[in-house]
Amino acid sequence: MPVSSESQAGFLSRRHFFRWTGSLAAALGAAPLVSSAQSLSSATVSSDGEDYYDKLGVTKIINAAGTYTTLTAACMPPEVLVAVQKSALHPVRLRELQQKAGEYIARRLKCEGAVVTSGASGAISLATAACMQYANNIDILDMPQAIDGKKNQVIVQRAHRYEYDRAMYLCGARVTEVVTLDEYKRACAAGNAVMTNFFNAAEDEDGIAGSAQIGREEWLKVAHDYKIPCHLDAAADMPPISNLWKYTGMGFDLVAFSGGKGMRGPQNAGLLLGRKVLTDLAQENNNPGEGIGRGMKVAKEQIVGMVAAVDWVLAHTEESMQGDYQKRADLIASAMKGIPSVRTETVVPRIANHVPHLLIRFDPAVTGVTTAQVVAALRKGTPSIELNPNTGQKPNQGIPADANTLVVGVWMLQPGEDVIVGQRIRAALTKQA
Ligand SMILES: *Cc1c(COP(=O)(O)O)cnc(C)c1O
Repeated sequence: MPVSSESQAGFLSRRHFFRWTGSLAAALGAAPLVSSAQSLSSATVSSDGEDYYDKLGVTKIINAAGTYTTLTAACMPPEVLVAVQKSALHPVRLRELQQKAGEYIARRLKCEGAVVTSGASGAISLATAACMQYANNIDILDMPQAIDGKKNQVIVQRAHRYEYDRAMYLCGARVTEVVTLDEYKRACAAGNAVMTNFFNAAEDEDGIAGSAQIGREEWLKVAHDYKIPCHLDAAADMPPISNLWKYTGMGFDLVAFSGGKGMRGPQNAGLLLGRKVLTDLAQENNNPGEGIGRGMKVAKEQIVGMVAAVDWVLAHTEESMQGDYQKRADLIASAMKGIPSVRTETVVPRIANHVPHLLIRFDPAVTGVTTAQVVAALRKGTPSIELNPNTGQKPNQGIPADANTLVVGVWMLQPGEDVIVGQRIRAALTKQA
């Protein structure tokens, strides 16, 4: 096993980890259950457990892409996994767990209220449901069907429209699209808005509005003049770690984060943070009630896993987290040394996926291989490797790629995989693969 640049290399190996958690399960109180439940357990399962990917014939990949849901995004770190495993051993009262997890997360992330959701998309739905109720004084059962004649508009800048608008439509909400500040003020004054939605990554880091005309501060001020709550979608926007309290601190009433991206919680978890009056309403609409959140169930394992992920994030500093990612990028870059025409550089998108990405630029006339051939060779080999989808594409979301540029997303690599990715890209570019 090659030595990884990863600081996590010092953690338990996967095999040791499962052995350890196996004995942990016994120590935790599974033992008294064994006598009565023995008939349900199988003597043929090894202590490491069966590998169901192998059993199903599903290809395990190295994720050199990033936090993409289609690639199952983040893997939980050992500290989070062990918390999930422990939580699975005991039933609890769900509402008590939701309440105490919410209070703990709110305290740690410096906001009034928090809900563990099924993901950022689920958080947007629950935020909309909360704001619909807040504005209309309606029952949770009135959504989405009985909203006629009620306030139901969410105000959004045209440049902030996206596929997650559907998470709001789910509650019966409709979007009022605005471009100019005047249009925005008129939409707020119309009196039928329940909420505004701000897509955080659509705006530049220094407060410039990007292709939209209205920046965060002004957006908040106008809505709050009309007492309209503001939701901000920051799903992919940790790191920096401080973003977890920056936007609630600025005055956004509700903020959504994905749990299974940079936070490395369970992939089917997320956070809705903000003003307690609204997070309480969001919770009312959440499973196990009968509101729109009933189908967005978050089990005890994901709730505990998300709490542990918050602890995991806060156990890092910005420097330790980004330094780790930079080391991986440097190690892969060093594996490219001496390949004719190859140049490497690291870029960090300003908002969303704000981590070092390695760009490997080359001249196919010199290497004799094209981007498509490299991508295919990496996919076909064992283990199969997925590069970042910006590979071979035009500049996009802060990643200045082009047709002859490979993009390596390093932050979802598991310990030791940076070495493998470096070797395999080198082999592909030098036609050894
Ligand atoms: C990923 C993402 C979401 C959805 O997050 P999930 O946790 O997968 O539900 C929503 N909004 C933005 C901007 C995202 O990047």
